[in-house]
Amino acid sequence: MKKYLLRILRWSTGLLLVVLIGLFGRGVYAFRDRTPGYKIDLKINPAKTYAEARPLRVGFGRIKINPDLSDPKRPVWVAGFSHHRAATAIHDDLWAIACVIDDGHTRVGMVVLDAIGFFHDDVVAVRRGCAAEWKLDYTIVCSTHNHSTPDLMGLWGPDVLHTGVDPNYRRQVIASATKSLGDAVAALQPARMALHEISTPSEGLVADTRKPTVFDPDIRVMHFTNPSSGATIGSIVGWANHPETPWGNNTEITSDFCGYVRETLEHGFTHEGKPMATGVGGIHLYVNGAVGGLMTTHPSVTVRDPYLQKDYKEPSHEKSRAVGHQLAARILPRFADTNATSTNVAAIGIRARTLEIPIDNNLFLAGAYLGLIDRGHVRWKTMRTEVAVVTIGDTSIACVPGEIYPEIINGGIERAPGGDFEIEPLEVPPVRELMPGRVKFVFGLANDELGYIIPKSEWDVKPPYIYGSKGHVYGEVNSCGPETARLVHSAMADLLRDTKAAQPTR
Ligand SMILES: [Zn+2]
Repeated sequence: MKKYLLRILRWSTGLLLVVLIGLFGRGVYAFRDRTPGYKIDLKINPAKTYAEARPLRVGFGRIKINPDLSDPKRPVWVAGFSHHRAATAIHDDLWAIACVIDDGHTRVGMVVLDAIGFFHDDVVAVRRGCAAEWKLDYTIVCSTHNHSTPDLMGLWGPDVLHTGVDPNYRRQVIASATKSLGDAVAALQPARMALHEISTPSEGLVADTRKPTVFDPDIRVMHFTNPSSGATIGSIVGWANHPETPWGNNTEITSDFCGYVRETLEHGFTHEGKPMATGVGGIHLYVNGAVGGLMTTHPSVTVRDPYLQKDYKEPSHEKSRAVGHQLAARILPRFADTNATSTNVAAIGIRARTLEIPIDNNLFLAGAYLGLIDRGHVRWKTMRTEVAVVTIGDTSIACVPGEIYPEIINGGIERAPGGDFEIEPLEVPPVRELMPGRVKFVFGLANDELGYIIPKSEWDVKPPYIYGSKGHVYGEVNSCGPETARLVHSAMADLLRDTKAAQPTR
């Protein structure tokens, strides 16, 4: 009897403790809907514009989003690796960079943040801040997933019980994202668009740290130029790699290789007074693609700086610069190619859809309960997110709300031996196979960050572990659950089939 009482006492103390911590955190209030009724089901067919083609216009804008490091009493917690990583300096600037494209009928805006991740609620806040007269039919908000930026997701505070998000900084980023879109609208000007797909072997750049080995290696670029002068207005660069080059001991804020590639495209690169690369001016966006499963310039990867002819293995800012230079050295010759085909007419089509995702990850639920992860839930254990497909002339963009495994995009999902479900791949056919157009972009961490989007047939939390691994494989701990990939893939496949059906036949 005494034993029972003791056990009950122990249980109730534990329960009381959880309740108390929850009350000091967000508690049950975390699971309310913060954007009640928000829903997008948007269909804009490009076909309508074919009746009367109008010239393309494009505008760019950018605003710095550096955190304030001046008050030692208010440390800025750096996201991405571990708790208690306080920022010590700003090595180079963080930015919100926007591009608005208008085909004379439809206007799409996109803004990319040097940030670890940006939740759907915050994306909605950015959209709600946009003025009606900007006439944006649809807006995409992406983060680069940079691991040397302030925490905006709450998981990397001073300790496991405290968020790393400074609400003031979060407001600053939302306001800057909105303003950069407004600036891009104000800068709209006639443009020609050229598309480039640059085959880029991952060797010496990116490692895949989880089987199966599948990359999303190539660089894709939309290049916008002035129709009469040919001068560069700006570009959108898509590639897939975790911006975490300086690794977990770095405490300096930096935009990583994303910043270096943008900087080099704009200004070129000069070393010891000697010009090594010539920039083209303009404003350039870097957008990350399928970075899951897990694409990274791991400390084991040696990167050669193509301009300095020097190898970098130890994580450092110079190594980030070498990665940025590797991209720029491939892109700049394409910009200079006067034979590249370009067009001043490119009809815009949009498909976007709100989606509900079940949360099977108890850590995510605990994080919400304790006030770490501050985002709305449409109901208990269910979050609202969004998928979208945008077509611009001969290019298409799949907007994925998280870190998708490249095999879902390019093919190569396996029935992983040792996986928890022992099923054939569900997330097929590969997304890129369903995408229309000549150059097919994937915008990852677009309009949300759900974490890893893992094929169900590769899902693994229980032993035996996949591919004979001795211990836990990394990924599932940062995923909403085993159904996420199937739901995102099937919604995306729906939108893509619908898009293809609506494409004008030529
Ligand atoms: Zn990641």
